[in-house]
Amino acid sequence: MIDYGTIERIQSAAQIVEVVSDFLTLRKRGVNYVGLCPFHEDKSPSFYVSPAKNICKCFACGEGGTPLHFVMKLEQLSYVDALKYLAKKYGIEVKETEMTDEEKQAHGDRESMFILNSYAQKVFSANLFENPEGKTIGLSYFHERGFRDDVIKKFQLGYSLEEKDAFTQQALLAGYKFAYLEKTGLTVVGENNYKADRFRGRVMFPVHTLSGKVVAFGGRILKNEKTAKYVNSPESEVYHKSNELYGIYFARQAIVKQDRCFLVEGYTDVISMHQAGIENVVASSGTALTQGQIRMIHRLTTNVTVLYDGDSAGIKAAIRGIDLLLEAGLNIKIVLLPEGEDPDSFAHKQNATAFNEFIKENETDFVRFKANLLIREAGNDPVKKVKMVTEIVDTIALIPEEIVRLVYVKECSLISGVDEGTLVRAIAKKRQEALLQKKKTAYPEAANPETGNFPDESQMPPPQEQEDYTGFAFGKTSSLDNYESTILRYIIRYGEIDMANIKEEEDIDDIPKGETKKEPPLFVIEYIVEELKQDDLKFSNPAYQQIMEEVFERYKNPDFHAEHYFRNHVDPNISKLAVDLSTDKYIESKIHSRYKPVPKEEKKLFDLVPYVVINYKNALLQKRMDEISAAITEAERNGDPEQLVERMKELAIYTQKKKMIAPFLRERIIG
Ligand SMILES: [Zn+2]
Repeated sequence: MIDYGTIERIQSAAQIVEVVSDFLTLRKRGVNYVGLCPFHEDKSPSFYVSPAKNICKCFACGEGGTPLHFVMKLEQLSYVDALKYLAKKYGIEVKETEMTDEEKQAHGDRESMFILNSYAQKVFSANLFENPEGKTIGLSYFHERGFRDDVIKKFQLGYSLEEKDAFTQQALLAGYKFAYLEKTGLTVVGENNYKADRFRGRVMFPVHTLSGKVVAFGGRILKNEKTAKYVNSPESEVYHKSNELYGIYFARQAIVKQDRCFLVEGYTDVISMHQAGIENVVASSGTALTQGQIRMIHRLTTNVTVLYDGDSAGIKAAIRGIDLLLEAGLNIKIVLLPEGEDPDSFAHKQNATAFNEFIKENETDFVRFKANLLIREAGNDPVKKVKMVTEIVDTIALIPEEIVRLVYVKECSLISGVDEGTLVRAIAKKRQEALLQKKKTAYPEAANPETGNFPDESQMPPPQEQEDYTGFAFGKTSSLDNYESTILRYIIRYGEIDMANIKEEEDIDDIPKGETKKEPPLFVIEYIVEELKQDDLKFSNPAYQQIMEEVFERYKNPDFHAEHYFRNHVDPNISKLAVDLSTDKYIESKIHSRYKPVPKEEKKLFDLVPYVVINYKNALLQKRMDEISAAITEAERNGDPEQLVERMKELAIYTQKKKMIAPFLRERIIG
């Protein structure tokens, strides 16, 4: 495990903007940055990054946190691995003590699979450079293809020996469990418990996630056998083919820097382009693009350039996948390579400058490209012409921005000779149909099959209920948990505020200068702690109680700053909780409601804090009284007079207490 000092160093080194920027493109907005949220399907930027607070937060889905949380969540890393990731990024050395067997056990399946994949990658790479078979077959193949050793090493290419289960045996010997060999698909289990390596006598291409972890392999056979040229890892707990893009780990920084992504088909296209000095390139690995892959690109850039082989056979098939990119609002350009060339072969003949030059001269806007292609095909055939117009309309209808659609309408009208108005009407109809289809999918049971009509808005699921600005609804329904979290929120957000001397902004004008009366200071944290200690109250939520205990220990220390302390807490659950409490929905409503002025909570702390504390105490009393009443009923039923008297006395005390606080409950009205 990692020692506390190192954890602190990592936490204070990690800058939220830098960490998040490795995964998505951020734009400055005021003092914050915004980008497309990586945790939900975000069409307009909802993901806020605050360099001042060193946290991020999505105001649509609520995800976010410190740099550590962000990495944990996005990359599905464990706490320790997320720390290691950040340590590596910031060049901090991590001294780790050996994991015990229990710790290894607790590491979880996913983690074990990543560890095994990483081990496999190292074995395959060692085979390639050190094993005689690997060198003569694998390495010489890569050299023949023109790959340099530095590029082979960068992409962690490897070789799997041509034996039945060489890798499986080696992994078992090294202590890896068979279960994970099977789960990752590195070992295939057949009938009668037949076990064999999935990859045999193949050159190996590891597939990396955005953060560089190996999730899968592609293995290419070199002999002319009647077997598939490529074998890939199966889908697994860690590998979902539709969510990975080959090369994204090596490309992400270049994509952000150049605000553009090249899209190619195969592994070797990506590698050759890197070797030629073009690094902003990813491969869809032969299949049509998926929504998950598009989201990954979209988070980094809105500009995608697709490189196609010169032959026209592949073009039509590939064009279909591009419609999805258009729908996501991306700007798509197309480059056709010279006849007989693919990105791999072409890159070997060019350096980066010449390649970029070629792209600049030959790239065409996708819609224009498609329209031209269709028009040329249709020629003067009236039937084909109708089909062509339909296809152009279908494509333009996918583009989300109206203004962009109109530009294309003008252009397509010019080149096709079809009247602009006709195109506009057809596109509007198409979009309406698509919208209806979407609603149908979203509310299948609501649709009336007879009429195709949809219920009005009032029948749709209600939007999420708005909470009032104090963070919870007061009254009988408020749970203890609500009070506890609100009290903690006050401590974390406003602990160091002197609530006795807060002035309402609007009041300031009323007070003549120099006459401002100053009350003795009353800090929020002090007030709450004293109140809770006075009645020896403990929170029922264990996580909250743990925080409170640490507050009790530290609140008198002048250097103690609750928000900073808990946000950077070593326990990730606590720091996550602290972030959630300090960036709640209240901020969200502040950002989004430009029209409704939201009362400033911090200006009302002098009213709010005591109000919430007293209500919390009242709720506790009520809960205790309910318990006593139940005990009284129980004692009556059991005919236990001693119990009964004891409980009645107790109830009397609580009733008295409740009477005492009653006037305070009514006194504070929140305005
Ligand atoms: Zn989100």
